[in-house]
Amino acid sequence: MPQRRTKIIATIGPAQDSPGALERLLDSGVDLLRVNLSHASPRAQAERVRRARAHRPDIAVLADLAGPKLRLGELADDLKVIEGDTLVLGAGGVPVGDSSLYGRVRVGDPVFIADGTIDLVVTEVAADRVVCRVRVGGVLRTRKGINLPLDTSSLPALTDKDRADLADIAVLAPDYVAISYVRHERDLADARELTKLPLVAKIEKQQALERLDAIVAAADAIMVARGDLGVEIPIERVPATQKRIIRAANRAGRPVITATQMLMSMVSNPLPTRAEVTDVANAVLDGTDAVMLSEETAVGHDPVGAVKMMIRLLVETEPLPAPHEVPARSEPANALAHAAADLADDLDAAAVVVPTRTGESAQRLAAFRPRRPILAYSRVPETTRRLHLIWGVQAIDLSVPPGGDALNATLAAARRDLGAGARAVVLDISSKVGVPSLVNAITF
Ligand code: PGA
Ligand code: MN
Repeated sequence: MPQRRTKIIATIGPAQDSPGALERLLDSGVDLLRVNLSHASPRAQAERVRRARAHRPDIAVLADLAGPKLRLGELADDLKVIEGDTLVLGAGGVPVGDSSLYGRVRVGDPVFIADGTIDLVVTEVAADRVVCRVRVGGVLRTRKGINLPLDTSSLPALTDKDRADLADIAVLAPDYVAISYVRHERDLADARELTKLPLVAKIEKQQALERLDAIVAAADAIMVARGDLGVEIPIERVPATQKRIIRAANRAGRPVITATQMLMSMVSNPLPTRAEVTDVANAVLDGTDAVMLSEETAVGHDPVGAVKMMIRLLVETEPLPAPHEVPARSEPANALAHAAADLADDLDAAAVVVPTRTGESAQRLAAFRPRRPILAYSRVPETTRRLHLIWGVQAIDLSVPPGGDALNATLAAARRDLGAGARAVVLDISSKVGVPSLVNAITF
């Protein structure tokens, strides 16, 4: 029975509102659900999350904040523009959702609309409008996104909506919160003043790439947000940039998610393209922890089909050898994790067994990508849910009898799960002075 190691995140949306659809998605093998707050409040999404937990109480949830994305305002009708047209954004023209636009562009700057499909150049800037010439035309629709790749203004990373959403986030009880358009590690520090939840830094700005290592160090997880990234930087740089981000995350031992358009054509087609299946495989070979589905599951015609396709691709690709970056072994806890991974390989152990309170030990071990399964036991339900994001980790809730000890309880549970006679490697990293850490091989 092949064991899948790469985790799958599915974005939920209107496609899960028909009877049974959410339950079928949860049964299909997804590890986390992503709730997108770009167009909705936490309250508006709470009902879907409640239904999800009613069906699968241990499902992990990622709440994705909208961030300072500029958008067109409400358009009563679609508006077609063609190359050479003059287009006014703001007073006397197409409404924009946020007047900060006018202060963020200069004559000659590019302006992209609708994921970069419409390409404008600024010819005039006034206090209440921007005049542009259309370089590549298309159809403007209500609330479409606007990208300003040359904008370096230092707006707060968290908008008023993000702050309001964070104040309300408890209605979703998420396991992770994603911060959009991170530009600086300070953005994560700002978010930490408002929430104690683990933070996913979405890398989708050139400015973030300039501070990549500091952002990776400051975040709990990283997302290669290829949708906006492919507009904010030249699209031909996306493949190399994805590899660079994944390597940086792997080196720091931070989980990394590869997102957007992985199986995009499955929104309406029964099968993905050859290019899409190759993209999923390459993300695995690059060293991603998780792959993410967006429209494929949120609005697609066959969300379960997209997840099943993902699983087939992951299972097929994971056995291929691929070099990857690992954390520095000069840190004692990393050296112990690395030793456990090697020992399990050398002994062909049934699993590496890790008792973990915060999840950190399991995460360190996963960063060395052991070939043998990782069984992480935690008495903290938040920890087992969070570990659903981490490559290769099978997280199991542990009950420790009163006065009992977590290591003994873990060994008893592992014996139950692996069976008498199974050989396991045990990794117990203690950070307490005077309490020894342990890497051992045992036969149950
Ligand atoms: P989004 O983020 O879907 O919230 O824009 C992902 C991306 O930009 O790729
Ligand atoms: Mn984005």
